[in-house]
Amino acid sequence: MIILVINCGSSSIKYQLLDMKSDDVYDLLAKGLVEKIGLPEGTIRHRPSGKEGFVRDLPIPDHVVGMKLVMDALVDPVYGVLKSFSDVEAVGHRIVQGADFFSGSALVDEDVLSKIEFCCDFAPLHNPAHLLGIHAVTDVLPDVPQVVTFDTAFHQTMEPYAYMYALPWEYYEKYRIRRYGAHGTSHQYVSQRGARLAGLDLGHSKIITCHIGNGSSVTAIKDGKCVDTSMGFTPLEGMIMGTRCGIIDANIIPYIMKKEGLTPAQMTEIMNKKSGFLGLSGVSSDARDMNDLALAGNKKAKIVLKKLTYDIVKLVGGYIAEMNGVDLIVFTAGIGENNPRLRRRVCEQLAYMGVKIDNEVNDAARGEEVIFSTPDSTVKVALIPTDEELVIARDTMRIVSTLEE
Ligand code: ADP
Repeated sequence: MIILVINCGSSSIKYQLLDMKSDDVYDLLAKGLVEKIGLPEGTIRHRPSGKEGFVRDLPIPDHVVGMKLVMDALVDPVYGVLKSFSDVEAVGHRIVQGADFFSGSALVDEDVLSKIEFCCDFAPLHNPAHLLGIHAVTDVLPDVPQVVTFDTAFHQTMEPYAYMYALPWEYYEKYRIRRYGAHGTSHQYVSQRGARLAGLDLGHSKIITCHIGNGSSVTAIKDGKCVDTSMGFTPLEGMIMGTRCGIIDANIIPYIMKKEGLTPAQMTEIMNKKSGFLGLSGVSSDARDMNDLALAGNKKAKIVLKKLTYDIVKLVGGYIAEMNGVDLIVFTAGIGENNPRLRRRVCEQLAYMGVKIDNEVNDAARGEEVIFSTPDSTVKVALIPTDEELVIARDTMRIVSTLEE
């Protein structure tokens, strides 16, 4: 089944075209990115598998034009990989927020669309863009079934004591304020792959997954189900991130707003876009820049990197206590997959409980699934590259196949 996977941002469309033969057997036919939608000069980068791609700069006024460009690239006589639009059998979309409406992927219909719309308030940067993406696909491929996969769905198994904030109950009832988590597709995927690699029975296992990228979250997974995760009502809660502050004393928020005369929107922008690595260092939101600066002796960058390790260790330690043990710890995403030093530092803090890693294997580990704990380590530790698009394609295939039966 040929499936187009779409991840729409407010000004971008990331796409992958996969030929799914089964859950584990598939070909990546092409991938690409449409950027700067709505700005005077946009860009499309198209990378077909096995041949040259292209980068083209042109105005892309909206998502419908962006989707048309994607489809034209896929059927282009030189750079394309399909004969016609009708070869696309299904489209799967990544959706950041599904609140407690969705505990799994769903076929797009009016009811699903209205629930995604309702969740726009919880993810104002993401959900409206996802809806634009769905409508743009409907415009270009009106007869193709569309499936939505939610970043929040995997976390729906959390118990109320884990997802409730100790605020007056009425705000939960009136505004659905509770913890939803994020990166669920990634946590689910890497925990399943990790369990397989470590020879664990997922149904009787305790796994902690560390998705450490621009956005970062840590999740506790018991018997294959999420029991806790570090992100909350929105993807702001939890640990330090590229531009997000993670957990702070909530009283700081009205205090800064009063002192600086800020509106709620301005304060939200500061916490989401101007904090984290960027806010503390004053220089960059990128972990590679933090490493370079720290090596050059920059004190703030050193604090950033120490805090990054510290926040992960606190979360992992807390989840070990919560689950009364752990069998496997998994690292994934941009930093988790590419920064052996960070992985070593986190594991060193767990040495008291018998976590031992093979430094050579850890240092060499990059971009491939590998267990880098030693055979006598009490806990297995693995690097598993995440693949959210594959999960979306699998779910899309599963749901669309049942339609055809
Ligand atoms: P996002 O949350 O946007 O998907 P990623 O998972 O791509 O983010 O992670 C981005 C982070 O990963 C950046 O801080 C970047 O510095 C870091 N990163 C990506 N590739 C490398 C690499 N090869 N070496 C070190 N760090 C990397």
